[in-house]
Amino acid sequence: MEIASVIVDVPTKQTDRAFDYLIPEDWRGTIQPGMRVIVPFGPRNIQGFVTELKSESAFKKLREIIEPMDLKPVLNQELLELGDWLTENTLCFKIFAYQVMLPAALKAKYEKKVKLSIGMAVADLPIQLQGFFENQEMLEWEEALKKGIVPLLQREAAKGHLEVIYVVKERVKKKQRKFVRPLVTLDELKKEVERFPAKAEKQKLVLSYFVEHFQAVELRELTSNLKTSAATVKALVEKGILTEFEMEVYRDPFEHRTFKRTKPLPLTNSQQTAIVPILNAIETNRHEVFLLYGVTGSGKTEIYLQSIQEIIEKGQEAIVLVPEISLTPQMVNRFKGRFGELVAVMHSGLSAGEKYDEWRKIQRKEVKVVVGARSAIFAPFENLGIIIIDEEHETSYKQEEMPRYHARDVAIARAKTYSCPVVLGSATPSLESFARAQKKVYHLLSLPSRMNNQTLPSVEIIDMREELREGNRSMFSRKLLEMLKDRLEKKQQSVLFLNKRGHSSFVMCRDCGYVMNCPNCDISLTYHRVNEQMKCHYCGYESYVPKQCPECTSEYIRYFGTGTQKVEDELGKILPEARVIRMDVDTTGRKGSHERLLNDFQEGKADILLGTQMIAKGLDFPNITLVGVLSADTMLHLPDFRASEKTFQLLTQVSGRAGRHQLPGEVIIQTYTPEHYSVELAGTQDYDLFYQHEMMIRKTHHYPPFYYLSLITVSHEQLMTVVSATEKIVNYVRSQVSKDAVVLGPAASPVARINNRYRYQCLIKYKREPNLSKILKTILDQYQKDTKSGLLVSIDLNPYILM
Ligand code: ADP
Ligand code: ZN
Ligand code: ZN
Repeated sequence: MEIASVIVDVPTKQTDRAFDYLIPEDWRGTIQPGMRVIVPFGPRNIQGFVTELKSESAFKKLREIIEPMDLKPVLNQELLELGDWLTENTLCFKIFAYQVMLPAALKAKYEKKVKLSIGMAVADLPIQLQGFFENQEMLEWEEALKKGIVPLLQREAAKGHLEVIYVVKERVKKKQRKFVRPLVTLDELKKEVERFPAKAEKQKLVLSYFVEHFQAVELRELTSNLKTSAATVKALVEKGILTEFEMEVYRDPFEHRTFKRTKPLPLTNSQQTAIVPILNAIETNRHEVFLLYGVTGSGKTEIYLQSIQEIIEKGQEAIVLVPEISLTPQMVNRFKGRFGELVAVMHSGLSAGEKYDEWRKIQRKEVKVVVGARSAIFAPFENLGIIIIDEEHETSYKQEEMPRYHARDVAIARAKTYSCPVVLGSATPSLESFARAQKKVYHLLSLPSRMNNQTLPSVEIIDMREELREGNRSMFSRKLLEMLKDRLEKKQQSVLFLNKRGHSSFVMCRDCGYVMNCPNCDISLTYHRVNEQMKCHYCGYESYVPKQCPECTSEYIRYFGTGTQKVEDELGKILPEARVIRMDVDTTGRKGSHERLLNDFQEGKADILLGTQMIAKGLDFPNITLVGVLSADTMLHLPDFRASEKTFQLLTQVSGRAGRHQLPGEVIIQTYTPEHYSVELAGTQDYDLFYQHEMMIRKTHHYPPFYYLSLITVSHEQLMTVVSATEKIVNYVRSQVSKDAVVLGPAASPVARINNRYRYQCLIKYKREPNLSKILKTILDQYQKDTKSGLLVSIDLNPYILM
């Protein structure tokens, strides 16, 4: 087996296949499938993944692998196969499928360097350059740029004296720390302490320390505890009494926290009924998908915990997915509290290094449970016993770039391989999942009521048009204001929720209706108060805020919509005595600030928590008795067939924040469309009725879960080019699919231009289309290979964003 098939780190259609390389003699038997290697590719050295070993190749002249980057495979056999599955099911390049399964730290970084060509000596170089190569083999490009010698280098390179190479670098290093330990026996150590002269005070101190603690200690800790220096320790090392060594330590993001250990709670009757089928599947190693449908606070998490307990006792492993924004410290604490050190946590708040360390804990089998956001579904466990997806309806489980996978699908694929159960949990299941449960494809488990039969909070819907008619121009209805005052008096806490998606703060002329749009993208610019700028969220274009309308010169041009900051300002005016904590992207940007703000709120340092989506989930504070939704309908009017579903889910989630403990909760929803069924049914928290109503609409309009969708998006700088290419694609698809499929297009995408590229789309709706994958691959083959035309074609099977 001296030949390795390698997928190279060049994401193009032409290179989207395995290349064969010869394994150098030295590395034979060492290099295995799933390892990263450095290989020559064209004039460069790049990273690649070994997919298989073989003894023959169809190609004659094979180049040699330069060296392995790993000591053991980073992708095991199961994950390599999952890579094939991802490629097939999302139509992505294989290199993306592998990269998405690994922490970012393992993605290659290339460094440009200059070195002497083979056979050249330093003396062959012009005198100005000699100094740079005397003490080092390679010169970093960055340094060459700084020193201004690039032209000189290029001249030498042209003569063949020097060559430019790319060195593959690891992004993150393992964290090494220096440790010290005694090299002699305890008895000898005791003698040494006595033998040392009194004036060698510091050295004596260190030795006495080791007499008391006869074990290794981190150098830094030792010197700071004893207030001595590293030189003192060094002296003892030189005398052969102590020894220094390096040891890897993990970056622990939770270093400073202690977790209160918890014990399994005795389950209620309905929890007991729900958990039995899950435990049964665990016991019999059976793959089955469960939909755990229970309102917020009905005890789903306790079921997750006790199922995992079972898995750990069986010697197996568990993956728990939680949406990024509900991966709060509270959530993490519940898992760490139950399983302590056996839990790894993966979320975007961690540094690349921290993520890498958590990943390695999994790889080394030091943990049994991983709790994380979407990408944790690729945790390299090898004995998976259960996969749990909390808040399964969340659209953040779908990745919007290659590979465009949905974590739920990956979970089911992996669970089949391991023959183990999947538990999907939600208070407002996605229509897709609930429909599957109705058809008994998934096993439905229900938790009908909250713990201790607490009532759900009472919800009141306020018609804001009515408020306006009666002369209230404020963003707070009279009722909401009255309730906020009431809570202040009672010293109870309130949460104010602002739905920031949609056109939140754009600039509009009140006289002529002119809206300030991005010149590159057909979308309104968003007003940013911090730096008084208008900004495009698609391409980053920035502009000043106009003083008068460019259309009609009116001075009544101002920003509309409500940002959290504006709400905070207004609160300051109408309720000056209230202490407010604001949580949005501006206040939670820095690491740890999210957690700090929530802690402050929990400790009662504020009366009102004001925020966006980020406060809708996971909060479980006993003193919250009022939730106010400032505008329920900002999301209803997006060009998205899931807009109603998302609005219903969000309103139900937010309402669930109130009255989770002893005190009863109240919810106020302000809206301009109180008659819309999403708003109305969120008011009565009636999922079943919402489900029926929404299913009817989906059926009528041929949307999921009745139909599958595939979206082809084409973009180009020239409008005509896009239109004609999209037309060709649409015609081709029409000629190939069955007559039951609906092919829509060519149509301009809802965001018709991004970054000066026009965007057109073709939407395919179908029930069963076994050939579709082949048809779409043909399209990609044709357009992705032709990079000169500048056309970009992307395909999303099961899109969540139709813009
Ligand atoms: P969900 O995950 O459905 O929102 P949780 O699991 O968070 O619900 O449960 C809500 C509250 O009830 C939590 O404070 C939890 O500790 C508590 N709880 C859950 N199960 C039990 C039980 N069997 N006995 C007592 N308290 C429970
Ligand atoms: Zn105007
Ligand atoms: Zn733009």
